Amino acid sequence: MSSLSFEEKLQNYAELAVKIGLGLWAGQRLLVRAPVESAPLVRLIAASAYKAGAKLVDVMWNDDAVTLARFNYAPRDSFEEFPTWQADALIKIANEGGAVLSIHATDPDLLKEQDPDLVALVQRVGQTHLIPFRRKVMSDELNWSIISLPIASWAAKVFPGLPPEEQIVSLWEAIFAVCRIDQPDPVTAWQQHVAELSARKDYLNAKRYTTLKFTAPGTDLTLGLPDHHIWHGAQSQTPAGITFIANVPTEEVFTLPHKDRANGVVSSTKPLSYGGVLIEDFSLTFAEGRVVKVTAKKGEAVLKKLVETDEGSARLGEVALVPHSSPISQSGLLFYNTLFDENASNHVAIGRAYRFCVAGGPAMSDEEFAAAGGNDSLAHVDFMIGSAAMDVDGITSEGVSEPIMRAGEWAF
Ligand code: ZN
Ligand code: ZN
Repeated sequence: MSSLSFEEKLQNYAELAVKIGLGLWAGQRLLVRAPVESAPLVRLIAASAYKAGAKLVDVMWNDDAVTLARFNYAPRDSFEEFPTWQADALIKIANEGGAVLSIHATDPDLLKEQDPDLVALVQRVGQTHLIPFRRKVMSDELNWSIISLPIASWAAKVFPGLPPEEQIVSLWEAIFAVCRIDQPDPVTAWQQHVAELSARKDYLNAKRYTTLKFTAPGTDLTLGLPDHHIWHGAQSQTPAGITFIANVPTEEVFTLPHKDRANGVVSSTKPLSYGGVLIEDFSLTFAEGRVVKVTAKKGEAVLKKLVETDEGSARLGEVALVPHSSPISQSGLLFYNTLFDENASNHVAIGRAYRFCVAGGPAMSDEEFAAAGGNDSLAHVDFMIGSAAMDVDGITSEGVSEPIMRAGEWAF
């Protein structure tokens, strides 16, 4: 158990977000997107950012209750409305060399009673307005990072057996642990962790596998990799040279699969919290890159709508490897929050690929990126497929199969 007080850990968390997550440079502006419950943390982040030389820290607040009020009472024909000033602010800060921190926390069941058509519509409208900003994010044109914090509804979902007053405390402890905040020197712990992920990524980049094969109960999937794919892990860099970590925590090394070369079936190993709805026990069947069959025990309608968003949402844009022994997996917790759950498990993402996963990708036209095997879509939704029962193999250009993972652990 760590001897730090809660206040000290919160302070460390704020500093980790600013220094390691964003890698904030003096003279940058910072925009924070945050739930109203996070105000105490945001105040510490603002102080830490100003001490690091931030020119201006601005906050864009959001609130589950306000979102739910809209679904409950807004006119049914009003769901195309969008606060365009938010999209404008994001693009402006990116264009002016600023940084964006998102604090993501939401009730996983917030919209479970709502019409799946409206849930899908709100997702699509938001994604459409954010295309120009997402484009910059997908190319690492700015330093950006996502962290999280407990809110009551979410903590209750993760710790249903605990009394309410202990739920938030327990979720904080879990987040501090998987973010290495309770270690004596979190910054050094992160530097070590980044170096380990970098070594995995370098090995995979040197291998130049043409195909990955995933085998587990309910999964028999092959994914072709584009010729010029690049594996990434932990740390990213902007064109200006700012190094940042886009997700805190992060345990993955990832690249893009070829958009036309996914074949076979893949089954989820954890529920997917998507747009306020939980999708559970689902599987997707692929032929030549495209989803041809969708089944889910729960949330099937929402999953089908997600896959039908556009042409690219029926294809994959990310494949990520995470050992089953990752701290998040070892916590044994299901977080109902992709930021954590994706870092417990091998995963793939429906939808658009990161441009920087192909050599020269950020400078390519849309047509060139597609020709290189890169997928594009309004959607990018990770879902978890890994387990202690999963084997992963890489096929070399000579057709030789080599073990990458055995029983959920690195095999090299
Ligand atoms: Zn991922
Ligand atoms: Zn992803």
